[in-house]
Amino acid sequence: MSLAGNSSQSTPLVLDENRLFASDPTQRAIAHRLYAQVAQLPIVSPHGHTDPAWFAGNAPFVNATELLLVPDHYVFRMLYSQGVPLDALGIPRRDGTRAKVDPRAAWRLFAERFHLFRGTPSSMWLNHVFHEVFGLRQRLDAGSADAYYDTITGALQTDAFRPRALFERFNIEVIATTESPLDPLTHHAAIRDSGWSGRVITAYRPDPVIDPEHEQFPSALQYFGEITGEDVHTWEGYLRAHRQRRAFFASMGATSTDHGHPDCTTADLPIDEARKLFDAIVRGQFTPAQAATFRGQMLTEMAAMSLDDGLVMQLHPGCFRNHNQGLFDKFGRDKGADIPVRTEYVHALKPLLDRFGNEPNFRLILFTLDESTYSRELGPLAGHYPCLLLGPAWWFHDAPEGMWRFREQTLSTAGFYNTVGFNDDTRAFLSIPARHDVARRIDCAFLAKLVAEHRLDEDEAAEVAVDLAYRLPKQAYKL
Ligand SMILES: [Zn+2]
Repeated sequence: MSLAGNSSQSTPLVLDENRLFASDPTQRAIAHRLYAQVAQLPIVSPHGHTDPAWFAGNAPFVNATELLLVPDHYVFRMLYSQGVPLDALGIPRRDGTRAKVDPRAAWRLFAERFHLFRGTPSSMWLNHVFHEVFGLRQRLDAGSADAYYDTITGALQTDAFRPRALFERFNIEVIATTESPLDPLTHHAAIRDSGWSGRVITAYRPDPVIDPEHEQFPSALQYFGEITGEDVHTWEGYLRAHRQRRAFFASMGATSTDHGHPDCTTADLPIDEARKLFDAIVRGQFTPAQAATFRGQMLTEMAAMSLDDGLVMQLHPGCFRNHNQGLFDKFGRDKGADIPVRTEYVHALKPLLDRFGNEPNFRLILFTLDESTYSRELGPLAGHYPCLLLGPAWWFHDAPEGMWRFREQTLSTAGFYNTVGFNDDTRAFLSIPARHDVARRIDCAFLAKLVAEHRLDEDEAAEVAVDLAYRLPKQAYKL
């Protein structure tokens, strides 16, 4: 196997100020002027997966490997695809154990293979972190692996690199984490009670108690009953339990719910049928089709509750989770084995939209992993229904090319103002400024092209740039 960068000479790491802007001088100059208006705006992060324990305890991150490698499935899926076993990196297994791995050895495995990430968003984000957060000025490769490990791990032991200090340095105005209804939100309570001014809120993600095909559904349902004191084995009690937990989450700052469903099916069953379906689900005697209908019914029920409590609904469909069975059996969820599938919205959303599509107080933010739906389905839907907004290019499409395709294919029908700005959607805390910077640059580059082609005046483009970077996410998520 040939390993890149195996020489003793180091190569400089440069973040070019023109990155992601067009090479055309007219467009580039406009993009720079637009970017100057948004580069320093505070970060609004309305959807993501950082761990609230970091901000509650404010303990130092342990070392470079634990911070940048182990939690980032974008990174280890690429390494895995090139023959690096997850055990060689010390990724935690499903049963809570971990292979005994020297974190420095794991870091070297990564560094020797950093060339695998060339041209990917992961390399842009990581290089941004290396350069801006840690002040590193040579490229990561086999030769610089140890210097990187020592610099990063050393920095992490200092107060300036504790979670709260980084939160402030990153100029984060607000960040949302994502929790299951079963989470007691003790970390959020600790943050609130600590007197620290950082705004860390939660979001209600009820999938574990809504998806009957989730491997832990029966025990999750049981616990849902225990923490709410409701009889969750009856339809009415189950719905009351959701209302109760949503109210608790809202009291802890939540402004949104989030739903990760395999598809976008919604249903609006008569109450007798809903009860009957729920009985089958509770007994564990249901077909895959009934499971899908139940999840779809629950989306409509969640929409009904949103109308009452004002939580903004987010729907993230279209991912085949845990595609690699052997890897799932050993390592569990979120290990980089999730694969996008084709997704249909127009028919699937109709039952929910028939009931709530024209409600002025209802808001549903749609995401997709199926880019073929941007211009055919999502743009036209969001460009019509008052309740619908489009979330940004998501996950596999959260990349310069993916963001560009999103704008190109939704602009003509949905405009800019039926979109919600950027979500970093990440558990990789240090990459948050990098990700927002990429989104801001791409939006500025996209707007610069419109200005250069005289489809927009520059003052309008500047306003849109600020709206996308700051105002729209705050407005869409009621922050
Ligand atoms: Zn997410």
